Amino acid sequence: MWADSGEYERVLGRAAEHAKDWLKALPERPVRPSLTADQIADLFGGPLPAEGMDPEKLLDFLARNAEPGLMAMQSGRFFGWVIGGTLPAAMAADWLVSAWDQNSGLRFATPATAGIEEAAGRWLLELLGLPEGSDVGFTTGASMANFTALAAARWRQLDSAGWDVNAKGLNGAPRLRVLAGAERHESLDMAIRFLGLGAPELVPADAQGRINPDALRHALESGSGPAIVCLQAGNLHSGAFDPFPEAVAAAKEHGAWVHVDGAFGLWAAAVPELRRLWDGVGLADSWGTDAHKTLNAPYDAGIVVVRDVAALRPAIGMHAEYLPQDAHGPGDPMEKSPELSRRARGVPVWAALRSLGSDGVRALVAGRAACAAELAARLAAVPGVEILNDVAYTQLSLAFGSDARTKAVTAYIMADGRVWMSGSRWHGRDILRVSVSNWSTDSADLDVAVQTIKDALAATA
Ligand SMILES: *Cc1c(COP(=O)(O)O)cnc(C)c1O
Repeated sequence: MWADSGEYERVLGRAAEHAKDWLKALPERPVRPSLTADQIADLFGGPLPAEGMDPEKLLDFLARNAEPGLMAMQSGRFFGWVIGGTLPAAMAADWLVSAWDQNSGLRFATPATAGIEEAAGRWLLELLGLPEGSDVGFTTGASMANFTALAAARWRQLDSAGWDVNAKGLNGAPRLRVLAGAERHESLDMAIRFLGLGAPELVPADAQGRINPDALRHALESGSGPAIVCLQAGNLHSGAFDPFPEAVAAAKEHGAWVHVDGAFGLWAAAVPELRRLWDGVGLADSWGTDAHKTLNAPYDAGIVVVRDVAALRPAIGMHAEYLPQDAHGPGDPMEKSPELSRRARGVPVWAALRSLGSDGVRALVAGRAACAAELAARLAAVPGVEILNDVAYTQLSLAFGSDARTKAVTAYIMADGRVWMSGSRWHGRDILRVSVSNWSTDSADLDVAVQTIKDALAATA
């Protein structure tokens, strides 16, 4: 029985009110949460009551009780990890995706969402400077984008070695080497592990975390057999980009498949002044990136791009009699990302791109890098602040003398709540990491960030 459509109307209206309240409160609210996950679990838990709950009351309960446990990742004063906010058009499009409820694996069954995702995919190839005709898949995030690309790489490299990995698996297969820079993102190790390929062989990196291409060549020469080389566009700590022209050349001399993890860095391609960083990226075979970071689309939105369509589809896709597939042409969504059933997560990506236009994407990415540069310039003038990286993109790594002092400054900032930044360890030191990824971060937010760091220094002196 179809629910009274009035119920959807009431409940969606209520959700919209709560969403608006949350967004309106962001400028004043502390960025940090004030309750722990255990406290929230208690509020929401206990035995599941036998009786249901009125949806509007449920939403009131949900909004009120979740609020103190929310981190304002949507705020322009959130500088933690590498995390974007959500552009208005992308957020609203995401709501429509939920209302449409399309199971988006097949072109034939869900032409609207499949077609919108294909359009977004073509725009992405153009913006990111990647080869026309590549497959674009929408994944949960960059981790799964990397996994998907590396599954294609595994299939192709073993196929070239005369081994059908789909039929035989990895037992008895030729040894497949996977090499990555010492400062690759650790989620890459997870993707490689999921594929049964063990841990990557690590190649030394320079002071900014860029892979050393001579060391890569040497590592490739010292072994044999099929190989995959993983490069990186955008180091988590420094924002640095691997030297692609040299590193890709070294990999290609040895017949390796080259994958680029560009979760947030691939977007530099959209900005002419940053494009030197990106130089050579397009020579690789596959790429993973996120739309929920730099592009400021909602979660979950990762993007995988694979040039070798004939490797990706057998590696990732499936066939069944009850799923009528598009035999020719652009291929079904389910052949380009690991899930069969999934939400149309590429639609909010389309909305983010279309709401910005190519000029807007350029301004967004250039603006994040400009804010990072401005923050670096202002912090350089603050006594006691050390900037440990060359700030060429959106990332800053800071230290404040001893590890103990840096930890104390970090703890102060997290508890203070005016801004949020996270700690890490880099090159043997405790650091405070700053990422400018939110679309709304502006000079006023940087004022607050600088003042909070100054106050933290004063409080921990
Ligand atoms: C964030 C990030 C990832 C992982 O992306 P998810 O979207 O969190 O899965 C991988 N690599 C780099 C460089 C990242 O910054």
